[in-house]
Amino acid sequence: MKRILVTGGAGFIGSHLCDKLVSQGHDVICLDNYFTGSKLNISHLMDNHYFELVRHDVTHPYFAEVDEIYNLACPASPIHYQYNPIKTIKTSVMGAINMLGLAKRIKAKILQASTSEVYGDPLEHPQTESYWGNVNPIGIRSCYDEGKRCAESLFMNYYRQNDVRIKIVRIFNTYGPRMNQDDGRVVSNFIVQALKNEPITIFGDGNQTRSFQYIDDLIEGMLRMMDSRDDFYGPVNIGNPHEFSMLYLANEIIDLTGSRSKIIYKPLPEDDPTQRQPDITLAKRELNNWEPKIELREGLKKTIEYFDNLLTT
Ligand code: NAD
Ligand code: UDP
Repeated sequence: MKRILVTGGAGFIGSHLCDKLVSQGHDVICLDNYFTGSKLNISHLMDNHYFELVRHDVTHPYFAEVDEIYNLACPASPIHYQYNPIKTIKTSVMGAINMLGLAKRIKAKILQASTSEVYGDPLEHPQTESYWGNVNPIGIRSCYDEGKRCAESLFMNYYRQNDVRIKIVRIFNTYGPRMNQDDGRVVSNFIVQALKNEPITIFGDGNQTRSFQYIDDLIEGMLRMMDSRDDFYGPVNIGNPHEFSMLYLANEIIDLTGSRSKIIYKPLPEDDPTQRQPDITLAKRELNNWEPKIELREGLKKTIEYFDNLLTT
């Protein structure tokens, strides 16, 4: 049994990670300030003696004796991270400094939830880890993209300068139950709109592409990364290479929900990347043949079931 700290543990990804770690018998501290997360996401774990909830903001130092740290605290959807962009940068940068300082002091292993957004609007396709990206440093997404890029730099420097045992995963778009229904991300938006028979809002012409992975595949990748050999620190892409357009996604969701919704078109947000697909060769090689297992339709069905329950209760 290990003692494990999960920052951002009450969020979408963090709560699934806490579930898995508790089920494996670990002693888990879930730290969150509930900016975008919710106690409801982890309420089923509250009675477990090996699960502890701490209200804390990662921009302030925190101390605990743990073996491993998963640093996930950061709003992830454009609506939420653009709500208070200065706070978003502080969360990424000061959160990384505080958690790396803790890892250094207590000699814990630490994993950073980085993002495909470090590639910006990529000019290389699919994206390999060696690609440096095409990020607008002053645009409205930069609070998130540059915050995460700075966090990666901090992780590398704590490794080089202080021998901290680091792991960096670059997470590509992920979906599944417990996505926040108000955060404006495309999968939750389309599903909720379809279930309510409301218009499906496509931004731009809908030909922009993304590659979505189901939450369970991501959690498996993160766990394997944390357990990978000590001299492999990444960054490593964790995502599903199955790439499709937002128009295709809208039609799949209409089909799976049997919705009467019609598609409507709205302006494309500024700096919206036109395409994104992970090259996962490195993950396969270093993470014991890790690859996504859940097909889009299967994952969408589970996510639709979750939102259907949420909307009817
Ligand atoms: P989320 O918004 O559901 O979860 C983020 C959690 O962090 C929330 O519980 C929130 O309350 C908490 N948080 C935010 N600021 C905090 C602060 N200052 N102190 C303490 N807690 C704070 O988002 P998510 O989708 O679960 O994303 C989790 C992590 O994974 C983020 O770091 C995100 O950047 C990264 N990521 C997610 C995706 C994706 O598709 N979901 C893709 C790439 C990277
Ligand atoms: N999008 C859309 N309609 C929506 C929400 C999003 O067409 O109601 C588009 C958005 O413009 C982007 C893609 O879907 O091109 C993915 O958006 P999301 O915010 O989920 O992820 P990100 O842009 O951060 O990859």
